[in-house]
Amino acid sequence: MATSPRIGILGAGGRMGRMLIQAVHQAGYPLAAAVERPGSSLIGTDAGELAGVGKLDVQVAASLEEVIHQCDVVIDFSTPQATETHLQICRDAKVAIVIGTTGLSDVQKQLVSDTAQHIPVVYSGNYSVGVNVSLKMLELAAKAFGETVDIEIIEAHHRHKVDAPSGTAYMMGETVANALGRNLKDVAVYGREGHTGPRERQTIGFETIRGGDIVGEHTVMFIGEGERVEVKHLATNRMNFASGAVRAAAWVIQQPVARYDMQDVLSLKN
Ligand code: NAP
Repeated sequence: MATSPRIGILGAGGRMGRMLIQAVHQAGYPLAAAVERPGSSLIGTDAGELAGVGKLDVQVAASLEEVIHQCDVVIDFSTPQATETHLQICRDAKVAIVIGTTGLSDVQKQLVSDTAQHIPVVYSGNYSVGVNVSLKMLELAAKAFGETVDIEIIEAHHRHKVDAPSGTAYMMGETVANALGRNLKDVAVYGREGHTGPRERQTIGFETIRGGDIVGEHTVMFIGEGERVEVKHLATNRMNFASGAVRAAAWVIQQPVARYDMQDVLSLKN
């Protein structure tokens, strides 16, 4: 396997796609391919110029099938529908994939797991190292507080984000729910309005804020009698997600076929 992975970026013209091209360039890896939506006005443009890092002589392609043979691994931050197609192409070509796209349906998540029986797959709702360290802290806090606190999760993102709560908020909810032996689907409460009655301890509350250019903020509150702990993560630009995803790409090409997440990449599991 190549020591310097040949990386393809899917959704190359998007906010994250451009950052990912920059992150690949900064890491000193060769950009092997860049793919955009068929019909996009960006097809045929130079991916390096698109991302503001200067000419890289990699033209934005209209389909992954055209360029998959040039890649050891691809990084996909596009749309759930596009990710579904990309999974199939990677599986057929036996090329590893790092998926950052959020808002996947249960069926699409199952497709991720099924594909990971054939190729190495990293799938994470958040590639930031800081968020993944925060998840570890949440697990510790949830286990220590047990049933003695109420848990609330507040997240804020820019006005263009189309899914809510964020993938990261779900990950945080799942982390505390698992640590407490609860099933998030049974205990999650999304927003509150009207006569809600008193709060039930088992519930985990989610609140969503959308506006302006907020990159991503998550706060998990452990609220007890007489004290409160807050675990807070603030993303101030998107490069932290991009560099984490590139780190995951370089890591996953050395791994056997399986489904991984960023906690695996960072060796944070036990
Ligand atoms: P965005 O700016 O809308 O970028 C998505 C890009 O994918 C667009 O350029 C879009 O093109 C393109 N695309 C659509 N269909 C495609 C196809 N079939 N093949 C290739 N490209 C296609 O969104 P973003 O802010 O970059 O976010 C992208 C995804 O990453 C979202 O799901 C977001 O929630 C997620 N995200 C994840 C993390 C994480 O750490 N896991 C962090 C940040 C964002 P058009 O605009 O022409 O349709």
